[in-house]
Amino acid sequence: MGYPKVEVDLNKIRHNVKSMVELGKKYGIKIAGVTKVFCGHPEIAKAFVDGGVSYLADSRIENLIKLKDFDIPKILLRLPMISEADKVVEYADISLNSELETIKALSEKAVEKNKVHKIILMFDLGDLREGYYDEEEFYEVAGEVLKLEGIQLIGIGTNLTCYGGVIPNEENLGRLVNIARNIEEKYNIKLEIISGGNSSSLHLLLKGKTIEGINMLRLGESLVLGLETAYGNRIENTYNDAFQVVAEIIEVKEKPSVPTGEIGRDAFGKVPTFVDKGIRKRMLAAIGKQDLQLDTLIPVDEGVSILGGSSDHLILDGTDSSINYKVGDKIRFNLSYGGVLGAMTSEYVKKDIK
Ligand SMILES: *Cc1c(COP(=O)(O)O)cnc(C)c1O
Repeated sequence: MGYPKVEVDLNKIRHNVKSMVELGKKYGIKIAGVTKVFCGHPEIAKAFVDGGVSYLADSRIENLIKLKDFDIPKILLRLPMISEADKVVEYADISLNSELETIKALSEKAVEKNKVHKIILMFDLGDLREGYYDEEEFYEVAGEVLKLEGIQLIGIGTNLTCYGGVIPNEENLGRLVNIARNIEEKYNIKLEIISGGNSSSLHLLLKGKTIEGINMLRLGESLVLGLETAYGNRIENTYNDAFQVVAEIIEVKEKPSVPTGEIGRDAFGKVPTFVDKGIRKRMLAAIGKQDLQLDTLIPVDEGVSILGGSSDHLILDGTDSSINYKVGDKIRFNLSYGGVLGAMTSEYVKKDIK
């Protein structure tokens, strides 16, 4: 296999998943493992399943189709497009919804296919991405959904810390639980699921706080990178290096830190500025912006820093490293969540899953 590549350590991922599944269990919370960041790659999804997730969840139906052979309920996370209603009913057992018109389209398709499609209705607690914002409207729509054939309302949910950066707490999640109880009372039903958000809700469990009633979290970043995302803290007993990018060094030279000549624009139309640090050991790696966003790379060697890059080159400073890098050596990077997304999505980055 060539370079650049992303190395995926399934043992580390399975370990992270087990760790979060155990944590959830203490609080009666089931984990939906979110696979979108690795494009629903089935081998990695299998590590999620082996680690004990109760559901697989993805924002794209294309990715859920890759997961169709797993015998575990699948959730479509992004609100369905009406134009894909047929596929949604075919490949997702559950979808998150916030438009009655869309749910009606799902109902039609479900009836056609003689299936029951399950719905989690989304309520917006203030983060201002998806979900009903008005409580009265929410109760009314829940009533309408209950009348639809081929549709089962199995729960409600919310999404936080995605657009508005709103942090989940006892107050806003408590309100979600309260809304669920109101629906149960008003329509004399039992809601099976109250889905209390993503990896940003974990900080509550990690501090030992329970939100009575919340019984599902949809986790991506915490399983993949061992991070809670409300405050960006590392989670104990998890790995943050299950995904690493490896690139090959194609030039090593001593050069000045400031370019020679009149400074115009760089390859992306920006006028660059430089700090004079004298002569430095500069290294080029064969990876660039066409592969992934370079600011999502974190050199594993702390003595190496990223100076910049262009579409096909990454420029590194290796002066302060204790390793004597040579042409042909490989250099490793940890990744931010965006980096995992970029590396897994890019057709130029090879996938080395083991
Ligand atoms: C992506 C996504 C998640 C997972 O978020 P993480 O921060 O990666 O845990 C959960 N719910 C929805 C609706 C999402 O789109």
